[in-house]
Amino acid sequence: MDVNSNERRRQTRSNVYHYLYGAQEFCTRQSLAQALDLSLPTIYQNLTDLVDAGLVRYAGQSQSTGGRKASGLAIVPDARVAVGIALTEDRLRFSAADLRLNEIAYHKVSHTSNFEMEELGALVARELEQFLDAYHIDRSRLLGVCIAMAGVTDPEGGHLLYAPTMHLRNVELSGLTRSIPYPTYVENDATCSGYAEWFMRGDQENLAYLSLENGVGGAFISNGVVYGGDNRRSAEFGHLCVEPGGLPCACGKWGCLEAYCSDWRIRNTFGVSLKEFFEGVNQGNPEYAALWKDFLFHLAIGASNIRMALDCTVVLGGFMSQYLDPYLPMLREYAAANDPFERRADYLQLGVLRSHAVPLGAALHFIRDFLDTV
Ligand SMILES: [Zn+2]
Repeated sequence: MDVNSNERRRQTRSNVYHYLYGAQEFCTRQSLAQALDLSLPTIYQNLTDLVDAGLVRYAGQSQSTGGRKASGLAIVPDARVAVGIALTEDRLRFSAADLRLNEIAYHKVSHTSNFEMEELGALVARELEQFLDAYHIDRSRLLGVCIAMAGVTDPEGGHLLYAPTMHLRNVELSGLTRSIPYPTYVENDATCSGYAEWFMRGDQENLAYLSLENGVGGAFISNGVVYGGDNRRSAEFGHLCVEPGGLPCACGKWGCLEAYCSDWRIRNTFGVSLKEFFEGVNQGNPEYAALWKDFLFHLAIGASNIRMALDCTVVLGGFMSQYLDPYLPMLREYAAANDPFERRADYLQLGVLRSHAVPLGAALHFIRDFLDTV
């Protein structure tokens, strides 16, 4: 068989798989043949290949009104798994996900490493193996392990160029990944979660993602592609100035969105956990309520500035977003007050993925690579 017919065959197989991956309705061999304009023998051949490879299975039967019932077809979500690790200054969060980005395991551990990369890498590798064992994750199906960090990385994922919340600059990352015996990649945390948000929504061309974690970051996805900018520093929304001369930020400047709208601000001001803080807000603690109002006010300024610059849906994500549901109307009201074009700020939305958005988004790196090769 020549190269061209091999490539055509691969493409047909890929089309069959991706059709099934995206299908909302019940699929049969007949409906596939019709939808993809292929002959039934071609469909049979490709399905045999995909079933033999463990990627597709026969699932259920159609509700036939007479004659033979047709067998349904579906992809096998756990044919492969990927692991994402969210690494911050005080903890590691592991998520394992299947090919549909369903979370199949989650675990978190605290760490006190001072970011000496070899030492941290050994810790990550050890905790990873324990995670795989504890949740019986089949290593032969493991596509890879992606580590998400709150910093600017180079395109090859080999260097961390700058990470203000962790006080790191120009750090070689090979020490971090060397002890992990699977394919690895290191990516910016908000790029991971922002892309995952776009992937899960599946209905938007453009999306700006504001990540509210220990620090504040973001991602801008345009026509389904992460826009990196000239220096891979696009969508560093945490350092938008929302209050000139305001609160000091970890980056050394004043008045950044991150200084106003991070988990770090709450914990540092009151020395309490987020859970305790929101209990206090709900019980009417005046100091907590005042800070929270100021937090929301500045968050709305940041969000409306993003809307002005990019003219697309602005999604609030990251683990802080799990507390925002009751405050979304107020946030939209504040944001609409800054908007000369629209009276309502419906563009401001909460993330689909909440507390595990970063590690799941990191896992998506290898899932996406795999889907591109099927
Ligand atoms: Zn800053």
